[in-house]
Amino acid sequence: MVRGILASLPEIPVQWVDRFGEDRKSETSKTLEVARFRGRFVKACPGTRFYNCCGYQILNFANQCSLGCSYCILQVYFPNSNVRLFANFDDLLQQLDDHLRTSRRKVHRIGTGEFTDSLLLDHLTRASELLVPFFAKQPSAVLELKTKTSQVDLLEKLDHRGRTIVAWSLNPPEVIDREEGTASSLEERLAAARRCQDWGYRLAFHFDPLLAYPRWKGGYAEVVDRLFSVVDPGVVAWISLGSLRFMPPLKAIIKQDHRGSTILDEEFVPGLDGKLRYFRDLRVEMYSRLKDLLLKVAPDLCIYLCMESNDVWREALGFIPAERGGLSAILDQKVLELLD
Ligand code: SF4
Repeated sequence: MVRGILASLPEIPVQWVDRFGEDRKSETSKTLEVARFRGRFVKACPGTRFYNCCGYQILNFANQCSLGCSYCILQVYFPNSNVRLFANFDDLLQQLDDHLRTSRRKVHRIGTGEFTDSLLLDHLTRASELLVPFFAKQPSAVLELKTKTSQVDLLEKLDHRGRTIVAWSLNPPEVIDREEGTASSLEERLAAARRCQDWGYRLAFHFDPLLAYPRWKGGYAEVVDRLFSVVDPGVVAWISLGSLRFMPPLKAIIKQDHRGSTILDEEFVPGLDGKLRYFRDLRVEMYSRLKDLLLKVAPDLCIYLCMESNDVWREALGFIPAERGGLSAILDQKVLELLD
């Protein structure tokens, strides 16, 4: 993989080191760190016991992201702002294979977008060329590639057999401009989604984080309109809704590093997991509004809330996951329908 990356970047200076620096301030995030990872590549998503958790599993091939969203929680998780890529993909695929063969789960939903953007480095790593065909052979597992880029070129020729879902996080253009650094515009994300639809992929969308900026009602209504003017709702596997939440130390980072951000203009309360979030009534209002907009276009859409309690589910969506077997089972069932 390193040889492949260097072939794409022949002019780039390379330095071999025994250890990476961890001091955030001395780093410029202009360096790609490449390492051998000696830990577990596949892990359960760190949901919390206080909220409904979706049973997602994380495939972690890189830490950190250089797109620079103001609200990005990775700024707190990782002291170093460089992206660190774990290049020992042979080990990754071996562990993944062992995991899928020995796990007692009937269905696996696995994503690479938890600690980085799934497609940020794809043009360099060509990781999709390894992962998509690997998942194509799995009887009951899907890979979700979550991104805010439009770097989907390599997906075109891959034999995915419906087992890779390509997902975008969406926000109104004014939020993207102000809060999402160098991520692709809404138009570019939707055009990339359309290309993936044309190549036969299932799609997913994450309205996460929903931001309660002054014009949020009109802003999100426009996004939903634009989404379904480009994408066929029939190929959408699921849509998640999650309002902004963050660990308190992120506040100081936003103030210092994202001076144009208006996120902190709103009021927050600590949730049961210690993260700051909007007041409950506002969260419910945002979720209900989005749900109504989405279901008006496509009444059969699978919509779920990320990290919310039963009472918020009931009020916003009209049911709680336990009434339908639990959130994990609802999404697993959706995967089984897709794989049919
Ligand atoms: S795209 Fe995702 S991972 Fe990258 S900076 Fe934005 S929130 Fe963080």
